[in-house]
Amino acid sequence: MYVSKIANPNTSFLKGFVYAHVGDSVAIDFFAGTGHQYVETRNNIAKLVQPNSFALNKKVQISASTSYFPDSRSCNVVGIIEGSDPKLKEEAIILGAHLDAVGSPGTLFPGALDNASGSVDILAAARALAASPVKPARTIIFIFFGGEECGLYGSKTFVESHLWPKEKVVCMINLDMVGNGTGLSMANGKTFPTILTHFSDVNEKYIHRNFTATEARVNYGRPRTDGAIFEKAGYKVIHLYTSGTVKTVYYHHPLDTTDALTPEIMEDAAKLLYLGVLGLANEKSDSANYSEPAQTYRISASGSNIWFGSDSFSLLSKRMSGDFILQTRVRFIGQGHELHRKTGLMIRSSAASNSPVVACTIHGDGLTSL
Ligand SMILES: [Zn+2]
Repeated sequence: MYVSKIANPNTSFLKGFVYAHVGDSVAIDFFAGTGHQYVETRNNIAKLVQPNSFALNKKVQISASTSYFPDSRSCNVVGIIEGSDPKLKEEAIILGAHLDAVGSPGTLFPGALDNASGSVDILAAARALAASPVKPARTIIFIFFGGEECGLYGSKTFVESHLWPKEKVVCMINLDMVGNGTGLSMANGKTFPTILTHFSDVNEKYIHRNFTATEARVNYGRPRTDGAIFEKAGYKVIHLYTSGTVKTVYYHHPLDTTDALTPEIMEDAAKLLYLGVLGLANEKSDSANYSEPAQTYRISASGSNIWFGSDSFSLLSKRMSGDFILQTRVRFIGQGHELHRKTGLMIRSSAASNSPVVACTIHGDGLTSL
């Protein structure tokens, strides 16, 4: 239950439809005498993803004093850092966070965690990227969405605007509630390992926070964050959150003030964003060209590593089974570059990022590893 009377707190306006939140105790009262159990019914719907409707035969009266402002306006604020590479600048990385918060006439919801935290993190990353002596090769677009809480209007407007061609968007990173906790989490990250690796590496090298990632899942419910609108439209979306909550979360609540934040994790989230995005923006585009007369491949690629779960630069692959002998002759082109660069053969049971793997590589400094 919300502490004050609110209707339509974060859903689209539907004429004549009053949307209200009730707590578990009220729901249990609804179920009393129906022969159905509230918790069991709810768990079954979640498990089977099937509706389970029946008549409660109860009358419920809900009252809420509401106002609708059809002429009110919101806006997106969009910033851009144009890529420094004449070709790669056509590709863009989008960072997004909603700037608005849930409000209620007569009660101010400061919205510190939801979502000043995400907006501030993007602003901090934008400032660092703009000042960085290493210029991003790809374009970076920063969007502060308006009207998220009243129906995801800002993100819908952006997606429908086709301001940047969708096929030229590397990914969209959404930040919603990134300011309370001790860890960093990238939802959907495991589905896009070549993107995730830039962020997990930065965390491992410089930030040292508990870092987790999950696979993308189909959302059967209504979309509740701007990233979901991009996801539905077919963009690669990663949601950055903070994990390991330390303070009480006052979600859509007047006590969502700066006291409800842990600024240290916000600082680290901004660093993760800055360094991770810079790595992603400057990732060389991979290529493998075959020369018929010389019978050689010339491979140009970059990635962070090929061990364990991540294989960020597999360039040529062939599916084989049965008995066979594999052999490769490799030579590095150019000298004096990264001594740790490596090339070689990798045998894996499948293309999945976590499949068993045997690798035989030679490093830039001549070290062989198996
Ligand atoms: Zn939010």
